[in-house]
Amino acid sequence: MSRRNTSHLLRSRTILYAVLLVSSVALLTFVFFRQKPLEYYDRTEYLLGTYVTVRVSSSKMSPVTLAEAAMAEMERIDDKFGSRSNGVIAELNRSGELHDIDKETSFLIKSALEIARNTSGAFDPTLYELTKLWGFDDESSEKRIPSEKEIEEALGSTGFSRITFVEESQYVSLADGAMLDLGAIAKGYAVDMAIAKIKALDDGATGFIDAGGDIGVIGPKYGSRPWIVGVRDPRGESVQDVIEYIYLYDGAVATSGDYERFFIEDNVRYHHILDPETGYPSRNGVISATVIGKSAMLADAYATAAFVTGMEPGVTFLPRFGALVLLVMEDMSTFKSPGFEVYQER
Ligand code: AMP
Ligand code: MG
Repeated sequence: MSRRNTSHLLRSRTILYAVLLVSSVALLTFVFFRQKPLEYYDRTEYLLGTYVTVRVSSSKMSPVTLAEAAMAEMERIDDKFGSRSNGVIAELNRSGELHDIDKETSFLIKSALEIARNTSGAFDPTLYELTKLWGFDDESSEKRIPSEKEIEEALGSTGFSRITFVEESQYVSLADGAMLDLGAIAKGYAVDMAIAKIKALDDGATGFIDAGGDIGVIGPKYGSRPWIVGVRDPRGESVQDVIEYIYLYDGAVATSGDYERFFIEDNVRYHHILDPETGYPSRNGVISATVIGKSAMLADAYATAAFVTGMEPGVTFLPRFGALVLLVMEDMSTFKSPGFEVYQER
């Protein structure tokens, strides 16, 4: 072999070793410094009268801290706005009027009134007296069919027109002994606020919060994939029985159904979503209403409203306020607002 060939061989070998060395260093660096795959932390607690699950992941901080902050925020809202607690709404119901209401209370009352107007009163935040009569104010309350006279009397102290709210002077009052019940909107609001708390701690956190069927997205799964939300079969045995799927990257979805709180007497189902006009459980063929909205608060409130407005005008009218509706009827047929199906494609 000539000297020229030998040196050529040596050079090729050196290059080969160098390439091998560089790629092994690169591989080792990748293995050592590769980010751990995102893992989701789940936490479930009984809050807001239901089971609330926070599923969250963060590449910045402990997801336990984030979930705890979210739970604490929802507990704060439950205490403040629950009709049975010692918060501001309970105080208003006792005294009939409040001065110097804070910004948050003002926002929630204003939103409730706006939704009541938008739905021509199908959503009505003053039905507390009726809700108590039926025993739907608390799990431990006796559930019973009130007499017609009782309902008639209670109707004399319900109706959102009995609320006087003056935002500028931070004033609210209730006429004729009306009592405020934010039960159809506060859960959604709590979910929104809990998500805001998480985002303030880590803007890049992802996951969702599910408060008994009111779901708000913190961020897409693994940062890029949608969360798959199952709409419960209203007559199914468990939450696992699903009739439709929704794919959500952001925003919120809420369901109101006649299976959530009810009792059956003489084969008739009496449930907790009341028709503000009659004072009886709303009966128009709808057994569940699901609303996709920008915020959990809006989805929550409009889902209750859609349950009461029913197919017409619910499905066609509510999208005007950003509420896309899916109704499940007694015969298990379904109706969707135009555009709803966009959320049913992956
Ligand atoms: P949701 O489960 O979100 O549909 O809210 C139902 C709760 O809201 C009930 O338990 C009552 O406290 C209250 N509620 C019942 N009927 C109505 C209605 N038509 N509008 C607003 N709130 C209602
Ligand atoms: Mg609701």
